[in-house]
Amino acid sequence: MGTKQGVLMLIVMKAHASEEQVERVCEKIEALGFRAHALPGAQRTAIGVTGNQGEVETGTFDEMEGVQEVIRVSKPYKLVSRDLKEEDTVVRFPGSDATFGGDEVAVIAGPCAIESREQAFAAAECVARAGARFFRGGAYKPRTSPYTFQGLAEEGLKILAEVRDRFGLLIVTEAIDNESLELVEKYADVIQIGARNMQNYSLLKRAGRAHKPVLLKRGMSATLEELLMAAEYIMSEGNYNVILCERGVRTFADHTRNTLDLSIVPAVQRLSHLPIIVDPSHGTGKRNKVTPLSRAAVAVGADGLIIEVHPDPDRALSDGTQSLFPQQFADLMVEVRQIAKVLGRSVAEPVANPIAHRGNVTAGSAAAR
Ligand code: PEP
Ligand code: MN
Repeated sequence: MGTKQGVLMLIVMKAHASEEQVERVCEKIEALGFRAHALPGAQRTAIGVTGNQGEVETGTFDEMEGVQEVIRVSKPYKLVSRDLKEEDTVVRFPGSDATFGGDEVAVIAGPCAIESREQAFAAAECVARAGARFFRGGAYKPRTSPYTFQGLAEEGLKILAEVRDRFGLLIVTEAIDNESLELVEKYADVIQIGARNMQNYSLLKRAGRAHKPVLLKRGMSATLEELLMAAEYIMSEGNYNVILCERGVRTFADHTRNTLDLSIVPAVQRLSHLPIIVDPSHGTGKRNKVTPLSRAAVAVGADGLIIEVHPDPDRALSDGTQSLFPQQFADLMVEVRQIAKVLGRSVAEPVANPIAHRGNVTAGSAAAR
C-alpha cells in the first residue's frame, strides 16, 4: 500500500484578487476534470488542485486574471499542508465564540460513554462550571470486547442534544460507521473519528462530506504522515474543518495504557495549518497521570484538551480508571488556565451557573443549521 507521491498544484491568487477571479480559476480547474479547493488566508487565497495524476499544465492558469503564481509542491499531503495555507486554521461554530486553533485553548470534557440522562447531566454541569466549552461522551463505543457496554446509540445522541440545550456546551461524539455518522452529524457539533477508525477510508470520505467539523484521533500506531494523510482524506472531500488529536500510541511501555507522544504537537504545527489537541485520558489510561500530562500538553502548545470526567468514576461503564472526579477536573482547569497565560493563550473562565448562563451556544442552534 505504498503511496505514490502526489503533486500539489497550488494556484496562489494576488492579495487583492476578487471573488469572481477566484471563482473563474476554480471553474477552470473543475472544467479540466479536477477538484478545486479555495482556502482563503489572511494575505491571499490559495487554491489547491486535487484529482490530478501528474502535473497540471501551469500555462493554463498563469495568464488568468488575479493569479499571482502557480506552484508545484511535491509532498504526499496537499490540503493539510502549510504550503497551501500558511496561517493556522481556526475552527468556528455558529452561535458560539468557542474555537479550535485560535488563541483560546479548547477544552472538551465529559464521560467516556453516555450511560443515562442523569449521568450525562451531572457530568455536564460540573465540566461547564469549571469552564469547559465542549462536552464529550460516546453514544457508539468501539469496545475491545463485544460483551462490554456498547453505548446507547441514538438515545445517547438525544441526551447529548439535551445537554447542549441545557448547559450551552458544544457536543463532541464519535461515529463508528457511515450509519452512525449520519446521526452524529444531525445531533452533534463535532464528529469524532476514533483511533481504531483513523484508516477507515470510506468513513473518512463520508466525514469529508459532512457539514460539521471532524475530530480525528491518531491511530494506535499511526505515524505523523499517516495521521496527516487521514486528514487529507477528509479535506479532499471538501470538509476543511478538521481537528487532529494525539491520544497516545502503542509502545513497549506498560506503566501507562498508551505512550502519549507530545512531540507530535510541534511536529504537526510545523507541517500543517490544522489545529491539534491532546487526549491525556486515553494517552495514559491512569487517572493520576491525566493532570500532569494535561499541563504538559498545554505547555507544548496544544490547541486543546479532551478529558474524561465522570460524576462517579468507580461506577463508570467504561474507562472509569482514567476518568477524573469532578473536583480533580476543576483543579486541572485552574492550572492549565495559568499555563496557557504564559504562552499568550487563554482557557475559558469558570461559569457559576451554567444552566442560567448557556453562554457557549444558543439553545437549539445546531438543529437550526
Ligand atoms: C474515546 O474517545 O472514548 C475513544 C474511544 O478514544 P480512542 O479512539 O482514542 O481510543
Ligand atoms: Mn474512553
